[in-house]
Amino acid sequence: DLLVVGSANADLVVEVERRPAAGETVLGSDLAVHPGGKGGNQAVAAARLGARTALLARVGDDAHGTLLRDAQRAAGVDTAGLLVGGAPTGVALITVDPSGDNSIVVSPGANARLTPEDVRAASGLLAAARVVSAQLEIPLDTVAEVVRALSQDTRFVLNPSPPAPLPAEVLAACDPLVVNEHEARVVLGDAAGETPEEWAHGLLALGPRSVVITLGAEGALTADGRADSCVRVPSPKVAAVDTTGAGDAFTAALGWRLGLGEELAAAAAYAVRVGAAAVTRRGAQSSYPTASELPPAPAE
Ligand code: ADP
Repeated sequence: DLLVVGSANADLVVEVERRPAAGETVLGSDLAVHPGGKGGNQAVAAARLGARTALLARVGDDAHGTLLRDAQRAAGVDTAGLLVGGAPTGVALITVDPSGDNSIVVSPGANARLTPEDVRAASGLLAAARVVSAQLEIPLDTVAEVVRALSQDTRFVLNPSPPAPLPAEVLAACDPLVVNEHEARVVLGDAAGETPEEWAHGLLALGPRSVVITLGAEGALTADGRADSCVRVPSPKVAAVDTTGAGDAFTAALGWRLGLGEELAAAAAYAVRVGAAAVTRRGAQSSYPTASELPPAPAE
């Protein structure tokens, strides 16, 4: 089973002709409300593929919280760990201008109230999980408590997004640490280097057991610290229309396949097919494929 520990947000989207200056009001399109947040996205992506998936997250006692719970349930996610209260549901206030550029204000709300105590109270969910997948839209203390609560044979996958300095204890548990190019550069700082292989070696030196770097249309690169080897995993070629949430779908698929016992490169080869499918449709959760909708792996 896959347990996702992370954020759940309502994405509130309005299209505008231009962004307002300070003190100004502009009129926009009708409001669109979409379920989002990296944790919620990952859980829906995995469940839609057929994974037995649970979500440990926190929403407010409000209409957005109900919307997010319904979206998880509709995808087949176990929502026993979807906690309620403490603050309003997290929201992302998104304006999109005619060129497609976004301006986003995030109010973490209840996501910031998912505490280490909540993790301790969810020991049953943690014990049932083969793989636990986390991101950084919840407090770092909470992620650290997840790491402490892992049993010997539970695998931990972390996407450090938004990127932040990570304690050694958290880094050492990652198997793998999953980053895109931007996150790799932030985590590595000035020592980043130029090629994905250099980033992978630099990241492994920070202590994770393995590393996966996503490379957009290029697919991904895996590096296993035990074997000290980098593997390039090419993506199927697709017509991309919207990459929102593709990384979340990739990471969820990767974690699920690792939990089934696949090797890292094989799990990544599955995950790039999921990521590729997700970019062919608009939105985040609305773009996620079922297993029968995946494009074939690229020919050698
Ligand atoms: P993020 O979405 O976090 O910025 P990436 O851009 O690396 O990260 O994308 C994550 C994954 O989504 C990639 O590894 C790949 O599987 C898929 N993906 C993203 N863009 C494309 C694309 N243009 N064509 C095919 N797959 C893509």
